[in-house]
Amino acid sequence: MTLAVIAGVGVDTRHWIGGRRVDSADGSTFEDHCPADGRLLARVARGGRAEAHAAVAAAREAFPGWAATAPAERARLLRAIADGVDKRLEELAVVETSDNGALIRSHRRGVIPRVAHNFRFFADYLTEQLAHPDFDTRGHTNHVSWDPAGVCALISPWNAPLMLATWKVAPALAAGNTVVLKPSEWSPLTASLLADIAAAAGLPPGVLNVLQGIGEEAGAELVAHPDVRRISFTGSVPTAKLVAGAAAANLTPVSLELGGKSPFLVFADADLDLAVANAVEQYDNAGQVCLSGTRIYVEESIRDEFLARFLERARALRQGDPLDEATDIGPSIHPEHLARVDGFVRRAEAAGARVLLGGGPNEELGGLYYRPTLFTDVDPHSELGTEEVFGPVLVLHTFTDEDEVVAAANDSRFGLAAMLFTGDRERARRVAGRLVAATVWTNCFFVRDLRAPFGGARQSGIGREGGTWSFDFYCEVKNTVTAPAGWLGDALET
Ligand code: NAD
Repeated sequence: MTLAVIAGVGVDTRHWIGGRRVDSADGSTFEDHCPADGRLLARVARGGRAEAHAAVAAAREAFPGWAATAPAERARLLRAIADGVDKRLEELAVVETSDNGALIRSHRRGVIPRVAHNFRFFADYLTEQLAHPDFDTRGHTNHVSWDPAGVCALISPWNAPLMLATWKVAPALAAGNTVVLKPSEWSPLTASLLADIAAAAGLPPGVLNVLQGIGEEAGAELVAHPDVRRISFTGSVPTAKLVAGAAAANLTPVSLELGGKSPFLVFADADLDLAVANAVEQYDNAGQVCLSGTRIYVEESIRDEFLARFLERARALRQGDPLDEATDIGPSIHPEHLARVDGFVRRAEAAGARVLLGGGPNEELGGLYYRPTLFTDVDPHSELGTEEVFGPVLVLHTFTDEDEVVAAANDSRFGLAAMLFTGDRERARRVAGRLVAATVWTNCFFVRDLRAPFGGARQSGIGREGGTWSFDFYCEVKNTVTAPAGWLGDALET
């Protein structure tokens, strides 16, 4: 069965290569299950070397035509894809929730609309970029152009599958590249729907290819391919090291968006309701959010008040079926992942950390539901103090002064995001400036604008996505210098 049927929606789960649905050459498949109830959603084509090579070949063949397509036409097609996403929003939301367990209400109201926005944003961006003016060097004209790089390998994770995938697909296509998208094997379905939407919008065959399969198989073959000109990867640090190694063999430029262990700072002068509401928000998507502020640092003098309000609010979270609009926290993605999360919790307890909330699977619900968990008395240099759990597990620390908390927050190999809550705007500016993180939110969380850079400092990533940062990554930026008519002089030095 290479068709998933979800609430009346059929998703063809074969590869999409060169504008055709194809099975793997040897007919192999893998199983895709629903995290909420474990049911088998589909058997999905399991790509390997042959399929990765076929997808890259199709993208390579389509590249000259797409690169030569007028930018206005490329922008029109991207907007048509956005319209297709809007039209199928409900279907996409239901399929995404069924496949990865994240809340339907987030998909309906935030995440899937963002998918459409990704395409519209880069359609607009493309149009504006071309208006870049030439400039003059002593009579010589400099013309900067953003030439497409070629075939791009795009590898995405399971926690926000379509949104994160299209954050790569949209700028890559806008710039005139052709792409091979390899979605996570734990959430492969919406990538297949995207292929249908792009085809219906009129995207030429081979411009967007979807390669299904297991990371170590299809993904590894794709990133090692010498014809790939750009690799954009979102996922975990250990996988990123393998991807970067494969990229190094061909010197393929690589963009890496990775994990984190973000600090969440609450000063005594903060609006406590705001800080608590945002702290509890860190359980969003069952904690399966790269940005999640999992190290909560609260100023000692307000610790008890903060904790009391936090526990009250967190205990009120409704855990259950992510397809129910009323649900606040859904399941973990996969049994293996649940076991991994629980492993962190059990080892932390054994090491002397104290559970203040949750601390294990939700036995009433069974399945993959893990209780929102809060620890205290965690050694900051222990496993739980330093490693990304990627589950609903937060750690509470306290501090007494600004220097101490900045040092503690920065004492991490990660640097994805940081949040800080204070009523003192000057302190907010000062502390934000000292935190090592690619995104700092002061008195807020998760406000994102596609014009802004997004990425990770330290081991949270290499490069940035968003606006000009994404667009430039997918281009060979070129400067063409033209002499004035009749110029016979010597070479200029500048
Ligand atoms: P993962 O590293 O296990 O997998 C990510 C992708 O890489 C999947 O598509 C997988 O199939 C593929 N893959 C696995 N092995 C591969 C290989 N050898 N070669 C090529 N591809 C391979 O990550 P995940 O579990 O899917 O996602 C969770 C991680 O992603 C967390 O660490 C999270 O913080 C991170 N993440 C980061 C961001 C960000 O923007 N910084 C966003 C979301 C998730």
